[in-house]
Amino acid sequence: MPRAPLFVSHGSPTLVLDDVPARRALAELFFASGKPAAIVVASAHWTTRAPRVDSSSAPRTIHDFSGFAPELYQMRYPAPGAPQLAARVVDALRAAGFEAELDARGLDHGAWVPLKLAAPLADVPVFQLSLQPHLGAAHHLKLGRALAPLAYDDVLVLGSGSATHNLGELARPDAPPPAWVREFDSWLGATLASGDVEALVDYRRRAPHAARNHPTEEHFFPLLVALGAAGPTPHTRLVHSSFTFGVLSMAAFAFEGQPARKF
Ligand code: ZN
Repeated sequence: MPRAPLFVSHGSPTLVLDDVPARRALAELFFASGKPAAIVVASAHWTTRAPRVDSSSAPRTIHDFSGFAPELYQMRYPAPGAPQLAARVVDALRAAGFEAELDARGLDHGAWVPLKLAAPLADVPVFQLSLQPHLGAAHHLKLGRALAPLAYDDVLVLGSGSATHNLGELARPDAPPPAWVREFDSWLGATLASGDVEALVDYRRRAPHAARNHPTEEHFFPLLVALGAAGPTPHTRLVHSSFTFGVLSMAAFAFEGQPARKF
């Protein structure tokens, strides 16, 4: 079986400390499938002009947030990198027409917070792939498609963003989601379930309250990378659904498919 790409909503950096349902779901992420051989993370928190792939052999833990508890800044995620695999990914991206380059960068909280829960021993090699939000939705689906053959080497393509993400309208942690958040989240779940990839790429026009749920798009595009990595006919499984701070859907999805075998 090819390794199914995943999308997770990473929520606040405090997810690693808070006892919330999404934290428990991430802790069980590899319960059924076993740990992958390596993980490439498309995180909302690394954006560049053209695709960059982390070549670090020992990626540093990046604390790219401010105003949180000191305990969060002391956390490290000392997983090894995968420089050879990263170089292979750059080759595959170039073959697909991207101006990809290697870049020793490290792991931002979009990568290490969920992985600290899913693989707490930090024993699976991890490296990141950057996003290009200025290039739109179709670009990110295509980025994912270029990574699809990795599934046959048991490499997990992990998109880490947020199913809904309007930080300007954050409420208290246990606030119920408002209708405009629920409606977008429901549309997303239903559209993924129906396999309508075209509608997902066109989400900005078709989804209810799209711009309000994603005032900027970098937290949505990791989903399209993971979806693309499952090949042209993905079958979506809902892994988790909950909300936090009212406006953050913590939805997680697995995308099962039969992607092309070769780069
Ligand atoms: Zn984030």
